[in-house]
Amino acid sequence: MSSEIQLSLFGEPPSFNQKELIPTDAKIPVPPGTYANITELAQHCNNCHRCELGNTRTNAVVGRGNLKAPIMIIGEAPGQNEDETGLPFVGRSGQLLEQILASVDLNTENDVYIGNINKCRPPNNRVPTPDEMAACLPYLLEQIRLVDPKIILLTGATAVKGITGDKRGITKIRGQWIEWEGRLCMPIFHPSYLLRNPSKEKGSPKWLMWQDIQAVRTKYDEIRQNT
Ligand code: SF4
Repeated sequence: MSSEIQLSLFGEPPSFNQKELIPTDAKIPVPPGTYANITELAQHCNNCHRCELGNTRTNAVVGRGNLKAPIMIIGEAPGQNEDETGLPFVGRSGQLLEQILASVDLNTENDVYIGNINKCRPPNNRVPTPDEMAACLPYLLEQIRLVDPKIILLTGATAVKGITGDKRGITKIRGQWIEWEGRLCMPIFHPSYLLRNPSKEKGSPKWLMWQDIQAVRTKYDEIRQNT
């Protein structure tokens, strides 16, 4: 996280005028408590030009699922289907994600909220640049504050890097619980990676994902029993 973003976490809620400027310039801080709800935040995202991705998007993709979910899943950035619909994780990778969740009796209606590091689609589905990620991160931090999940799943290396700054490859860190800002997080494979690696053999990415999602279910049950 850049020192500029860290500093913004210590600010007071912005004045009305400063708040109106948030979508215009990545230098405008977004202190915690800026948004009262996700609808307010989404209005800013849909009018946002804090980075150049705002010039080419069709829809900003803010999130979907239970706004008070105990589990939040964070992906990288919208693809074409997401840009067209305004919803994250639709299309084939979204269907696979729903199947993975359903395999341990989880769903986006009750248990899960899904968002992205960047709300706007990078051209040709390229990886968002560090500046683009930094410009959009304050929105995600506000989403996390508002949803207040107990568990965060980071799908793929870009999501891990965007949130924790850890630049290691996803195969090295997937399945490991880490603590970030007092929340339990687990890096997992991105569903699109699983689509490219269909084997279910022991040790394959799909098999590893099955181990990880079972560990998530177990941890979720433990947390529920202790609260
Ligand atoms: S990606 Fe994020 S920061 Fe960039 S224009 Fe879209 S909403 Fe704004």
